[in-house]
Amino acid sequence: MRKLALGLVLLVGLGVTATAADCAVEAFFVEPYVDGVIESAIIDAIDDAEEYIYAALYSFTDDELGAALLRAHYRGVDVQVLLDRDETGGEACPLYEAGLTVLIEDSSYLFHHKFVVIDSELVITGSYNWSNSADRDNFENVVFIRCPDIALDYWLGFLHLSRDYFFVPPDDCNGNGDRCAGYPYAASKNSDVFHLTSCHYVANISSANLICFATREDAIASGRRPCKTCKP
Ligand SMILES: [Zn+2]
Repeated sequence: MRKLALGLVLLVGLGVTATAADCAVEAFFVEPYVDGVIESAIIDAIDDAEEYIYAALYSFTDDELGAALLRAHYRGVDVQVLLDRDETGGEACPLYEAGLTVLIEDSSYLFHHKFVVIDSELVITGSYNWSNSADRDNFENVVFIRCPDIALDYWLGFLHLSRDYFFVPPDDCNGNGDRCAGYPYAASKNSDVFHLTSCHYVANISSANLICFATREDAIASGRRPCKTCKP
């Protein structure tokens, strides 16, 4: 089923690819129970980014896409994310606390965009929210538009939004240190590595998976080894 769907997606993608001057457009589709197609294409685009990634999104709960933005941030890419006020529960705080620019549209109006512009070259937009349900449960599409002229329009659109409307940082983030309420060490339930609670990897552990240790001995006794980055 998955293989067939991938093949169909490939055919559909080829079928609608249009090239004009320096521009190319490719369409992707997902359906319920056929996940990962759009997600992995977006992750590839994020991993290829060199200069900037500006995303204007309604919903952002997909932690694979969050991890890809974090990787981009750590290799020096300027990552900025604008989000809707009612949809701040997912990746907003972990990314904000890891040092990315994450801003929330502060009004009662719906911030319903689903676009990202990357490196003055690529625009990704469509019905697809950066959410787990879009990836797993929904009928969705996106188009990848590789076209400097279109990318310029979206870049200007992003700047217009961020400068001319009122955005605020997420206000319900606890901060890494507070996430374990004074405990110095933390880990994910799903990982065999433990960290200092200040480690940037801790920012990306969801609250549901976060476990805290009072002592280093407790962390080691849980069967975990120290993180090579924060060296707890
Ligand atoms: Zn660490």
